[in-house]
Amino acid sequence: MSKEIESAHMGTKVVWAGEKEFRAFGATQVPVVMSVAYDYEDVDEWYRVAMGDRPGYIYNRMSNPTVQAFEEKIRILEGAEAAVGFSSGMAAISSTLYTFLRPGNRVVSVKDTYGGTNKIFTEFLSNIHVDVKLCTTGDHAEIEREIAKGCKILYLETPTNPTLKITDINRLAKAAKAVGAMVIVDNTFATPINQNPLKWGADIVVHSATKFLSGHADVLGGVVCGSTELMAHVYHYREINGATMDPWSAYLILRGMKTLKIRVQQQEKSAMEIAAYLQTQPLVEAVYYPGLVTHTGHLIAKEQMRGFGGILSFILKDEMDAIKILLPKLKYANRAGNLGAVETIYGPARTTSHVECTPEERKSLGISEGLLRISVGIEDTEDLIEDLRQAFEYLESKLPIRVKII
Ligand code: PLP
Repeated sequence: MSKEIESAHMGTKVVWAGEKEFRAFGATQVPVVMSVAYDYEDVDEWYRVAMGDRPGYIYNRMSNPTVQAFEEKIRILEGAEAAVGFSSGMAAISSTLYTFLRPGNRVVSVKDTYGGTNKIFTEFLSNIHVDVKLCTTGDHAEIEREIAKGCKILYLETPTNPTLKITDINRLAKAAKAVGAMVIVDNTFATPINQNPLKWGADIVVHSATKFLSGHADVLGGVVCGSTELMAHVYHYREINGATMDPWSAYLILRGMKTLKIRVQQQEKSAMEIAAYLQTQPLVEAVYYPGLVTHTGHLIAKEQMRGFGGILSFILKDEMDAIKILLPKLKYANRAGNLGAVETIYGPARTTSHVECTPEERKSLGISEGLLRISVGIEDTEDLIEDLRQAFEYLESKLPIRVKII
């Protein structure tokens, strides 16, 4: 099955990949295997499995059939040789970095990575004497110059959270290869439906499976994909350090992934229309969506992505004052620190992606206090736009009063 499914289209892969091999009892769904350990009457067989000479299961921190079904599905979607599941996206990212980094190494990345990832770079890696250079996101020449000085890892995230900046993976992977650096790409925003970083020269792809992969905002998870050789090291780090994916989480994500393609299609259709609507709004200072021809990364996105995704962000001219009036008026919205779900989610950068940063740090990263991220859900587009329209109408009616009070 694995071989046949690898040549199918994405919509078929999300449904079938990794499923049949892990089914049991004739059931049409992968079981949730809730067993910490596995029983062996034959002690020699037990030993062979424990030593890795035979396939099988020993203890859930090492491997579990439900987790493996999830790993197999994402492995196929990313076109990787192997995948390793984790308890969260941050567990996947930190474990990957700590697997490969050693004292004295250097990492080159960009300023706009997810806030948690940025904290690993700015707060934790110095503890193990790893030097990190964070470049201006989108300044490919600067990133190339820094790579050329030598580095162990080039770490990218594209599109970025929350301003949707686009980085040319292929161009920078070539620069990284020239100095023997490993390229890691966070593909959470694009999803494998829209982008396969390995195809563009990345060595490793990481995901927060909490987001689009699961799609239902009810489970945490993460995953790392790459070559069999690299993933053997990541797997070993996980089995010893213990940030293993839970079987229930694996099942929920596996179930969510079956609708990944149709969810992303609906989300990006609405995102494009909402972005166009927001551009006409006088109270909006800027709109960030890679599908807009005015977006700085539009041409690169068109080249390396199959679609522009379901996330956009915009800056409200009156910053937090306007956000506080607009957000409670929205009917079809969760105001929450999450993204990638079936429900539309609104979140200011200062309370979501960059909540870990001080106002000064956000300023230095170019994150305005008026920046609002929309993770578009699968609702009907007309309803989402009408919802925004009535909220903006209300905001307009309130703003002059606020100005008078001041
Ligand atoms: N990467 C990106 C792009 C994210 O947006 C997030 C969380 O929002 C993470 C990684 C971390 O994922 P998790 O919350 O599953 O640890």
